[in-house]
Amino acid sequence: MSADKVVAMEKKIKKIRIIINPAAGTGGSILPVFNLSMKEAGTKWEASITHQAGDAIKFAKAAVKEGVDALAVYGGDGTLMEAISGLMGSDIPLAILPGGSANVMAEELGIPKDLKAACALMTQVPLTVKTIDVGQFGDRYFILGIALGFGAEMIKGADRETKNRIGIFAYFLSAATALKKTKKAVYHLKIDGQKHEVQGLTCIIANVGNLGFSNISYDKHINVSDGLLDVVVVRKANLSLFKLLAVTLLKRERPDNLELVEHWQGKEISVSSSPRQTVQCDGEVLKEMPLHIKIIPQAIKVLVPKKKDNVIE
Ligand SMILES: [Mg+2]
Repeated sequence: MSADKVVAMEKKIKKIRIIINPAAGTGGSILPVFNLSMKEAGTKWEASITHQAGDAIKFAKAAVKEGVDALAVYGGDGTLMEAISGLMGSDIPLAILPGGSANVMAEELGIPKDLKAACALMTQVPLTVKTIDVGQFGDRYFILGIALGFGAEMIKGADRETKNRIGIFAYFLSAATALKKTKKAVYHLKIDGQKHEVQGLTCIIANVGNLGFSNISYDKHINVSDGLLDVVVVRKANLSLFKLLAVTLLKRERPDNLELVEHWQGKEISVSSSPRQTVQCDGEVLKEMPLHIKIIPQAIKVLVPKKKDNVIE
Protein backbone atom coordinates (compact mmCIF):
# COMPACT_ATOMS: atom_id res chain seq x y z
CA MET A 1 0.00 0.00 0.00
CA SER A 2 1.26 3.43 -0.84
CA ALA A 3 1.77 5.80 2.07
CA ASP A 4 0.66 8.52 -0.26
CA LYS A 5 -3.02 7.60 -0.03
CA VAL A 6 -3.73 8.14 -3.70
CA VAL A 7 -6.89 6.49 -4.97
CA ALA A 8 -8.95 6.43 -8.13
CA MET A 9 -12.41 7.91 -7.74
CA GLU A 10 -15.24 6.69 -9.91
CA LYS A 11 -17.20 9.88 -9.98
CA LYS A 12 -17.90 12.48 -12.60
CA ILE A 13 -17.77 16.09 -11.61
CA LYS A 14 -20.96 17.64 -12.96
CA LYS A 15 -21.10 20.83 -10.93
CA ILE A 16 -18.17 22.85 -9.74
CA ARG A 17 -17.52 26.10 -7.90
CA ILE A 18 -14.29 27.94 -8.69
CA ILE A 19 -12.94 30.38 -6.12
CA ILE A 20 -10.79 32.97 -7.84
CA ASN A 21 -8.34 35.30 -6.16
CA PRO A 22 -8.23 38.16 -8.70
CA ALA A 23 -4.86 39.31 -7.34
CA ALA A 24 -3.31 35.99 -8.40
CA GLY A 25 -1.87 35.07 -11.75
CA THR A 26 0.49 36.63 -14.22
CA GLY A 27 -2.04 38.58 -16.24
CA GLY A 28 -3.17 35.98 -18.79
CA SER A 29 -6.91 35.52 -19.14
CA ILE A 30 -8.17 32.63 -17.08
CA LEU A 31 -11.92 32.55 -17.71
CA PRO A 32 -11.65 31.29 -21.34
CA VAL A 33 -9.44 28.43 -20.09
CA PHE A 34 -12.03 27.44 -17.45
CA ASN A 35 -14.83 27.84 -19.96
CA LEU A 36 -13.24 25.60 -22.57
CA SER A 37 -12.17 22.89 -20.08
CA MET A 38 -15.61 22.74 -18.46
CA LYS A 39 -17.48 22.89 -21.76
CA GLU A 40 -15.49 19.96 -23.17
CA ALA A 41 -16.30 17.92 -20.06
CA GLY A 42 -19.94 19.02 -19.87
CA THR A 43 -19.40 20.41 -16.36
CA LYS A 44 -21.54 23.23 -14.96
CA TRP A 45 -19.37 25.83 -13.27
CA GLU A 46 -19.73 29.05 -11.33
CA ALA A 47 -17.04 31.40 -10.12
CA SER A 48 -16.74 33.37 -6.88
CA ILE A 49 -14.24 36.23 -6.71
CA THR A 50 -12.48 37.00 -3.43
CA HIS A 51 -12.04 40.62 -2.35
CA GLN A 52 -10.69 40.32 1.17
CA ALA A 53 -9.28 37.86 3.67
CA GLY A 54 -11.95 35.43 4.80
CA ASP A 55 -13.92 35.44 1.53
CA ALA A 56 -12.55 32.09 0.35
CA ILE A 57 -13.63 30.45 3.64
CA LYS A 58 -17.17 31.83 3.18
CA PHE A 59 -17.35 30.74 -0.47
CA ALA A 60 -16.10 27.24 0.34
CA LYS A 61 -18.67 26.85 3.12
CA ALA A 62 -21.43 28.07 0.80
CA ALA A 63 -20.31 25.59 -1.89
CA VAL A 64 -20.46 22.73 0.64
CA LYS A 65 -24.01 23.77 1.59
CA GLU A 66 -25.03 24.10 -2.02
CA GLY A 67 -23.74 20.59 -2.75
CA VAL A 68 -21.15 20.92 -5.52
CA ASP A 69 -19.24 17.86 -6.83
CA ALA A 70 -15.89 19.64 -6.49
CA LEU A 71 -14.41 22.94 -5.36
CA ALA A 72 -11.59 24.57 -7.32
CA VAL A 73 -9.27 27.29 -6.07
CA TYR A 74 -7.36 29.63 -8.33
CA GLY A 75 -4.82 31.48 -6.20
CA GLY A 76 -1.81 30.92 -3.95
CA ASP A 77 -1.33 29.08 -0.68
CA GLY A 78 -3.19 31.78 1.30
CA THR A 79 -6.40 31.40 -0.72
CA LEU A 80 -5.96 27.64 -0.66
CA MET A 81 -5.60 27.57 3.12
CA GLU A 82 -8.88 29.51 3.43
CA ALA A 83 -10.74 27.27 0.99
CA ILE A 84 -9.52 24.18 2.84
CA SER A 85 -10.67 25.73 6.14
CA GLY A 86 -14.16 26.11 4.65
CA LEU A 87 -14.14 22.56 3.26
CA MET A 88 -13.18 20.85 6.54
CA GLY A 89 -15.56 18.08 7.50
CA SER A 90 -16.94 17.69 3.99
CA ASP A 91 -16.11 15.00 1.49
CA ILE A 92 -15.94 17.32 -1.53
CA PRO A 93 -12.77 16.97 -3.61
CA LEU A 94 -10.61 20.03 -4.09
CA ALA A 95 -8.92 21.11 -7.32
CA ILE A 96 -5.85 23.31 -6.88
CA LEU A 97 -5.26 25.68 -9.79
CA PRO A 98 -1.90 27.30 -9.05
CA GLY A 99 -2.12 31.03 -9.65
CA GLY A 100 -0.42 32.65 -6.71
CA SER A 101 3.09 33.85 -6.13
CA ALA A 102 3.59 30.91 -3.79
CA ASN A 103 2.11 27.52 -4.62
CA VAL A 104 3.92 25.29 -2.17
CA MET A 105 1.08 22.81 -1.73
CA ALA A 106 0.57 22.52 -5.50
CA GLU A 107 4.29 21.80 -5.91
CA GLU A 108 4.18 19.25 -3.12
CA LEU A 109 1.35 17.38 -4.84
CA GLY A 110 2.83 17.61 -8.34
CA ILE A 111 -0.02 19.71 -9.72
CA PRO A 112 0.89 21.23 -13.08
CA LYS A 113 1.63 24.96 -13.21
CA ASP A 114 -0.10 25.16 -16.58
CA LEU A 115 -3.72 26.18 -15.96
CA LYS A 116 -5.17 24.03 -18.72
CA ALA A 117 -3.30 20.96 -17.46
CA ALA A 118 -4.40 21.70 -13.88
CA CYS A 119 -8.04 22.05 -15.05
CA ALA A 120 -7.76 18.67 -16.80
CA LEU A 121 -7.43 17.03 -13.35
CA MET A 122 -11.12 17.83 -12.81
CA THR A 123 -12.21 16.03 -15.94
CA GLN A 124 -9.87 13.01 -16.19
CA VAL A 125 -11.46 9.55 -15.96
CA PRO A 126 -11.14 8.17 -13.43
CA LEU A 127 -10.36 11.08 -11.14
CA THR A 128 -7.21 10.64 -9.05
CA VAL A 129 -7.53 11.78 -5.47
CA LYS A 130 -4.96 12.14 -2.70
CA THR A 131 -6.03 12.70 0.90
CA ILE A 132 -3.91 15.19 2.79
CA ASP A 133 -3.52 16.11 6.45
CA VAL A 134 -4.37 19.56 7.76
CA GLY A 135 -2.90 21.21 10.87
CA GLN A 136 -4.99 23.08 13.44
CA PHE A 137 -4.43 25.40 16.38
CA GLY A 138 -7.31 27.11 18.18
CA ASP A 139 -10.01 27.54 15.56
CA ARG A 140 -7.48 28.02 12.72
CA TYR A 141 -6.28 25.56 10.15
CA PHE A 142 -2.93 25.48 8.35
CA ILE A 143 -1.65 23.46 5.41
CA LEU A 144 2.12 24.06 5.17
CA GLY A 145 3.59 24.59 8.59
CA ILE A 146 4.65 26.84 11.43
CA ALA A 147 8.14 28.22 11.90
CA LEU A 148 9.71 30.01 14.86
CA GLY A 149 12.90 32.04 14.81
CA PHE A 150 15.45 31.63 12.05
CA GLY A 151 13.09 29.59 9.82
CA ALA A 152 10.42 32.28 10.04
CA GLU A 153 12.94 35.04 9.26
CA MET A 154 14.40 33.03 6.39
CA ILE A 155 11.06 32.40 4.68
CA LYS A 156 10.12 36.04 5.21
CA GLY A 157 13.43 37.15 3.72
CA ALA A 158 13.44 34.95 0.61
CA ASP A 159 11.20 37.04 -1.60
CA ARG A 160 9.64 35.75 -4.79
CA GLU A 161 11.72 37.93 -7.08
CA THR A 162 15.02 36.68 -5.67
CA LYS A 163 13.71 33.10 -5.74
CA ASN A 164 12.79 33.45 -9.41
CA ARG A 165 16.16 34.92 -10.18
CA ILE A 166 18.54 32.67 -8.31
CA GLY A 167 16.34 29.79 -7.16
CA ILE A 168 17.40 27.87 -4.12
CA PHE A 169 20.30 30.24 -3.46
CA ALA A 170 17.73 32.84 -2.42
CA TYR A 171 17.33 30.80 0.75
CA PHE A 172 21.05 30.79 1.42
CA LEU A 173 21.19 34.55 0.95
CA SER A 174 18.14 35.04 3.09
CA ALA A 175 19.55 32.56 5.62
CA ALA A 176 22.61 34.72 6.10
CA THR A 177 20.48 37.81 6.83
CA ALA A 178 18.05 35.87 8.99
CA LEU A 179 20.93 34.49 11.04
CA LYS A 180 22.03 37.97 12.00
CA LYS A 181 18.49 38.79 13.16
CA THR A 182 17.86 35.64 15.16
CA LYS A 183 18.86 35.12 18.75
CA LYS A 184 18.88 31.62 20.17
CA ALA A 185 15.90 30.61 22.24
CA VAL A 186 14.82 27.74 24.41
CA TYR A 187 11.89 25.85 22.90
CA HIS A 188 9.44 24.34 25.31
CA LEU A 189 7.91 21.48 23.39
CA LYS A 190 5.33 18.88 24.29
CA ILE A 191 4.99 16.24 21.59
CA ASP A 192 2.25 13.66 22.22
CA GLY A 193 2.68 14.09 25.96
CA GLN A 194 6.51 14.00 25.95
CA LYS A 195 8.23 17.18 27.14
CA HIS A 196 11.40 18.46 25.50
CA GLU A 197 13.40 21.59 26.25
CA VAL A 198 15.84 22.37 23.50
CA GLN A 199 17.92 25.38 22.75
CA GLY A 200 18.00 26.35 19.13
CA LEU A 201 17.77 28.90 16.36
CA THR A 202 14.62 27.66 14.78
CA CYS A 203 11.77 25.29 15.38
CA ILE A 204 9.70 24.15 12.43
CA ILE A 205 6.42 22.26 12.69
CA ALA A 206 5.84 20.97 9.19
CA ASN A 207 2.91 19.43 7.35
CA VAL A 208 4.80 19.60 4.04
CA GLY A 209 8.54 19.47 3.49
CA ASN A 210 8.51 21.35 0.21
CA LEU A 211 9.90 24.87 0.18
CA GLY A 212 8.20 25.90 -3.02
CA PHE A 213 10.49 24.44 -5.64
CA SER A 214 9.89 21.05 -7.11
CA ASN A 215 11.64 18.37 -5.11
CA ILE A 216 13.33 20.75 -2.74
CA SER A 217 12.47 19.95 0.77
CA TYR A 218 13.62 20.35 4.35
CA ASP A 219 13.35 16.64 4.47
CA LYS A 220 11.88 14.23 1.94
CA HIS A 221 10.51 12.10 4.77
CA ILE A 222 8.05 14.80 5.73
CA ASN A 223 4.83 13.41 4.32
CA VAL A 224 1.62 15.37 3.86
CA SER A 225 -0.52 12.24 4.22
CA ASP A 226 1.06 10.30 7.10
CA GLY A 227 -1.11 11.73 9.88
CA LEU A 228 1.92 13.23 11.63
CA LEU A 229 3.47 16.64 11.98
CA ASP A 230 7.26 16.84 11.82
CA VAL A 231 9.02 18.94 14.44
CA VAL A 232 12.52 20.05 13.49
CA VAL A 233 14.78 22.09 15.77
CA VAL A 234 18.00 23.50 14.39
CA ARG A 235 20.27 23.91 17.39
CA LYS A 236 23.03 26.15 16.18
CA ALA A 237 24.47 27.85 13.17
CA ASN A 238 27.97 27.23 11.98
CA LEU A 239 29.57 26.14 8.75
CA SER A 240 28.22 22.63 9.25
CA LEU A 241 24.69 24.01 9.36
CA PHE A 242 25.11 25.48 5.90
CA LYS A 243 26.54 22.18 4.70
CA LEU A 244 23.59 20.42 6.29
CA LEU A 245 21.12 22.85 4.70
CA ALA A 246 22.71 22.16 1.34
CA VAL A 247 22.40 18.42 1.83
CA THR A 248 18.79 18.53 3.03
CA LEU A 249 17.68 21.10 0.50
CA LEU A 250 19.48 19.84 -2.56
CA LYS A 251 19.64 16.09 -1.96
CA ARG A 252 16.49 15.78 0.17
CA GLU A 253 18.29 13.70 2.74
CA ARG A 254 17.23 13.43 6.34
CA PRO A 255 19.42 15.48 8.64
CA ASP A 256 21.23 13.00 10.88
CA ASN A 257 23.50 15.30 12.81
CA LEU A 258 21.76 15.40 16.19
CA GLU A 259 24.17 17.93 17.54
CA LEU A 260 22.83 20.32 14.93
CA VAL A 261 19.29 19.16 14.26
CA GLU A 262 16.67 17.33 16.29
CA HIS A 263 13.64 15.80 14.67
CA TRP A 264 10.44 14.37 16.13
CA GLN A 265 7.04 13.45 14.81
CA GLY A 266 3.73 13.71 16.59
CA LYS A 267 0.01 14.31 16.43
CA GLU A 268 -0.32 16.90 19.18
CA ILE A 269 2.32 19.54 19.74
CA SER A 270 2.59 22.46 22.12
CA VAL A 271 5.36 24.97 21.53
CA SER A 272 6.60 28.21 23.02
CA SER A 273 9.96 29.91 23.05
CA SER A 274 11.81 32.03 25.55
CA PRO A 275 12.62 34.65 24.61
CA ARG A 276 9.89 35.17 22.04
CA GLN A 277 10.90 34.76 18.41
CA THR A 278 9.21 35.64 15.12
CA VAL A 279 6.48 33.07 14.34
CA GLN A 280 5.06 32.34 10.91
CA CYS A 281 2.20 30.10 9.92
CA ASP A 282 1.69 29.40 6.21
CA GLY A 283 3.65 32.58 5.51
CA GLU A 284 1.65 34.78 7.88
CA VAL A 285 3.15 36.29 11.06
CA LEU A 286 1.42 35.11 14.24
CA LYS A 287 1.07 36.90 17.55
CA GLU A 288 -0.18 34.13 19.81
CA MET A 289 2.14 31.98 21.93
CA PRO A 290 2.22 29.25 23.17
CA LEU A 291 0.65 27.33 20.33
CA HIS A 292 -1.29 24.12 20.84
CA ILE A 293 -1.19 22.39 17.51
CA LYS A 294 -2.72 19.17 16.30
CA ILE A 295 -2.98 17.30 13.05
CA ILE A 296 -6.23 16.28 11.43
CA PRO A 297 -5.24 13.21 9.44
CA GLN A 298 -6.55 12.80 5.91
CA ALA A 299 -8.80 15.80 6.21
CA ILE A 300 -9.06 16.87 2.57
CA LYS A 301 -9.26 15.09 -0.78
CA VAL A 302 -7.25 16.79 -3.51
CA LEU A 303 -7.35 16.00 -7.23
CA VAL A 304 -3.82 15.08 -8.33
CA PRO A 305 -2.18 13.88 -11.55
CA LYS A 306 -2.00 10.22 -12.32
CA LYS A 307 1.76 9.83 -12.46
CA LYS A 308 5.12 8.82 -11.00
CA ASP A 309 4.87 8.27 -7.23
CA ASN A 310 1.10 8.51 -7.27
CA VAL A 311 0.54 4.79 -7.19
CA ILE A 312 -3.13 3.89 -7.34
CA GLU A 313 -4.06 1.52 -4.52
MG1 LIG B 1 3.11 14.50 7.94
